[in-house]
Amino acid sequence: MPDLYDVVIVGGGVVGSATAYFLATRPDFNGRIAVVERDSAYEFASTPRSCGGVRQQFTTPENIRISQFTASFLAEIGDLLEVGGDRPDVSFRKNGYLFLGTEAMLPAMQQINEIQRRENAPVALLDRNGLAERFPWLTLDGLACGSFGTEEEGWIDPFALLQAFRRKAKSLGVDYIDDEVVGFDRTANKVAGVRLASGGRLGSGAVVNAAGYRGGKVAAMVGADLPVRPRKRSVFVVDIRQPLADYPLLIDHTGVYWRPEGQFFICGRSPDEDNDPEVEDDDFDVDHDWFESEIWPIMAERDPRFESLKVVNSWAGQYDMNLFDHNAVIGPHPEIANFFFANGFSGHGLQQSPAVGRAVSELIAAGRFETLDLSVFHFERIAAGKPFLELAVV
Ligand SMILES: Cc1cc2nc3c(=O)[nH]c(=O)nc-3n(C[C@H](O)[C@H](O)[C@H](O)COP(=O)(O)OP(=O)(O)OC[C@H]3O[C@@H](n4cnc5c(N)ncnc54)[C@H](O)[C@@H]3O)c2cc1C
Repeated sequence: MPDLYDVVIVGGGVVGSATAYFLATRPDFNGRIAVVERDSAYEFASTPRSCGGVRQQFTTPENIRISQFTASFLAEIGDLLEVGGDRPDVSFRKNGYLFLGTEAMLPAMQQINEIQRRENAPVALLDRNGLAERFPWLTLDGLACGSFGTEEEGWIDPFALLQAFRRKAKSLGVDYIDDEVVGFDRTANKVAGVRLASGGRLGSGAVVNAAGYRGGKVAAMVGADLPVRPRKRSVFVVDIRQPLADYPLLIDHTGVYWRPEGQFFICGRSPDEDNDPEVEDDDFDVDHDWFESEIWPIMAERDPRFESLKVVNSWAGQYDMNLFDHNAVIGPHPEIANFFFANGFSGHGLQQSPAVGRAVSELIAAGRFETLDLSVFHFERIAAGKPFLELAVV
């Protein structure tokens, strides 16, 4: 007989663990929850390899509202995810994001700023004088403006958030199972069970796909064509021999980003879509030439203190890229009603995990969104060919 669960979550990264936590805290849900995780040390998961960025500066109202929930959740995280007197601390450094723009980018950035202000996001659009005043070390060549988040933006310790969700979920009775989901038992319009690599089976009332960059593969196991694929990103840790307090997470108009990390800085750059090939799931080779040719020169140009530096570490991770519109896919499969997506975060899933976990728990327990209406993220938009574009993808 298979073990019976009301909900099986495939993947125990930050999204799967947040979903487990929110479900387990609901007073109206008393079901059994399992999280199946193939890599319980999270060696290859995206969450611990992420840059930890948390921002309000998105370009769609829904993503801004998601960020606002993240900010309120992080403000109370010590109380909410406390276990046995141990209050988690994700070390939120609120130094802000600074997006730099050229003259050509100015009209779009003004429009985006209007959307952000309508949503009460604390974002200032600075002109060259404003940039020079606020960031006197910045080389302004080629710049017309900068969009700076003045509150609730910066970065957190991503692994600390994942572990806090996981520990709390376990304390609330969620079972974490070390195994890999390799298939599903289906009826015409339902998933009835989950097949494991070990040969075991789990009976399940509902299934959540929280498999990160493997989300497309897990969706294919129920016959769903989810355009989520791994896209490799290299991150470099550099030492410039001077810690700079109060430095923001800076995103140059070219897409090169950098921010402080302890006494060092971390930096990276996403390639253009045409130069961003599909990679194997297990390709974590760091592209060192990318740093030399495409990252370092830009940093040194913007801030001459980066002209002399030493790379002290580096790693690569996979973005869970939604090739369709670079936005999350959240909610039930239209034909397989008990199969839920929580996928395709395209490089911003860490910061979206609290709102996504809460939203999926609402769909499972109440059958509808109760707090934030996230129906724009439904899977149906893909089949309908109607993208819901997020422009601020770093
Ligand atoms: C270099 C880099 C920088 C990033 N920077 C940021 C940032 O600054 N801010 C931000 O918000 N986001 C950032 N991201 C994106 C963010 O890391 C991801 O969107 C987020 O971690 C996704 O969480 P997840 O739980 O869905 O995926 P993961 O953390 O990858 O977890 C998915 C889990 O599912 C498991 N799994 C997969 N398939 C199966 C299966 N068949 N059976 C069992 N288990 C399975 C995996 O082992 C994995 O542990 C970054 C990502 C990278 C790579």
